[in-house]
Amino acid sequence: MTNIPNVYAAEPIPESAMAEVSRILQSGDLFRYTSENAPVALLEQEFADLLGAKYALAVSSCSAALFLSLKALGLPRDARVMIPAFTFGAVPSAVVHADCQPVLCECGDNYRIDLDDFAAKLPGVDAVIISHMRGHTSDMDAIMQLCDAADIPVIEDAAHSLGTTWHGKNIGTIGKIGCFSFQSYKLLNAGEGGIMITDDPDLIARAVIMSGAYEHNWKKHPVLMESFAKWQNKLPLYNQRLSNMSAALVRPQLAELARRVTDGRRNHDHVAVQLNASPWLAVPDCLAPEVRAPDSIQFNIVDMSDTEAAAFVDAAAAAGVKIQIFGQSADNARAFWNWQFIGDIPKLPQTRAMLMKACDVRLPARLTLAECDIIAQIITEAAAAAMTPTRAYG
Ligand SMILES: *Cc1c(COP(=O)(O)O)cnc(C)c1O
Repeated sequence: MTNIPNVYAAEPIPESAMAEVSRILQSGDLFRYTSENAPVALLEQEFADLLGAKYALAVSSCSAALFLSLKALGLPRDARVMIPAFTFGAVPSAVVHADCQPVLCECGDNYRIDLDDFAAKLPGVDAVIISHMRGHTSDMDAIMQLCDAADIPVIEDAAHSLGTTWHGKNIGTIGKIGCFSFQSYKLLNAGEGGIMITDDPDLIARAVIMSGAYEHNWKKHPVLMESFAKWQNKLPLYNQRLSNMSAALVRPQLAELARRVTDGRRNHDHVAVQLNASPWLAVPDCLAPEVRAPDSIQFNIVDMSDTEAAAFVDAAAAAGVKIQIFGQSADNARAFWNWQFIGDIPKLPQTRAMLMKACDVRLPARLTLAECDIIAQIITEAAAAAMTPTRAYG
């Protein structure tokens, strides 16, 4: 029997992390503000340099980074924050956590923001979070043009987009603030963690203090001191810091990033060609300025009824590949109608239609092309098996 690749297992943490982890265990120095040049501070510097941003703040999750970004913008209570309707439930949650109201924007069959709906809903919005969901980049040229013209700040939720570029520029550096995740299913794995980047000294100073740099701990951040001094004692302390242990796990992975991006893209494109050869499956193209950094693949089922779609998912599962149709798996956190905590759920027929046919399969960078072939074959054969009986006799 063929060995089905395990798409949930993580890559090992680079061995070079061991010496640092052992040093931290010996000293017990886990809190970022005890020593100078702590691993968290070094990670911030290295991450900012890697992405080409002026400032970085490492925090406990990307959700915390999104929350602190909204707080750092100084949005009033009940401010309206536009988010794509296709995103992870943590994103509307961060908006609610910041006492703001999420405004959901339609997304198209290619998983990207529908620009007509975006432009129509922009008036009256106080801030925008662009989730590059599963790494799919919306038209950032059009979005930035609309938001700049209306003087509306853009936060990029690049949790799952590290390494993606747009016109050669890193995703996360296009808007005012970029937020990334170190949760295990993202490109850099610390179990949990996140980081935000910006070129704005005042925004980062506010976020640093609110992340829990109480008293004068902000002096351990290399940001213009006058930016900090004016906020002393004026902001709440939400304590969403990252621990030195997490930073020690992420730092050696920064050197692996370029390989993970290249291999992830190779695997994605290799499988995409095979899926696109099936009449029942379609992988949407990316937009021209985007170079992807995927660790999973999304595709739409074509002309399948709900019964056929269920048979397709079952056939693939029986063969060892888990396919999740976002809108058809119970309680999916990426289906907007499950976000009951936001209050009234808008209709959004376009996004709903997309979620009912959009499939999700993990495809980590560490897979070989032979392993990718096994996955692609199982998916295409499952589609053929689900469709053949009805088409032949129906
Ligand atoms: C994973 C993810 C998040 C949340 O990241 P956490 O670090 O787990 O809080 C937010 N947005 C998107 C698009 C994600 O993929």
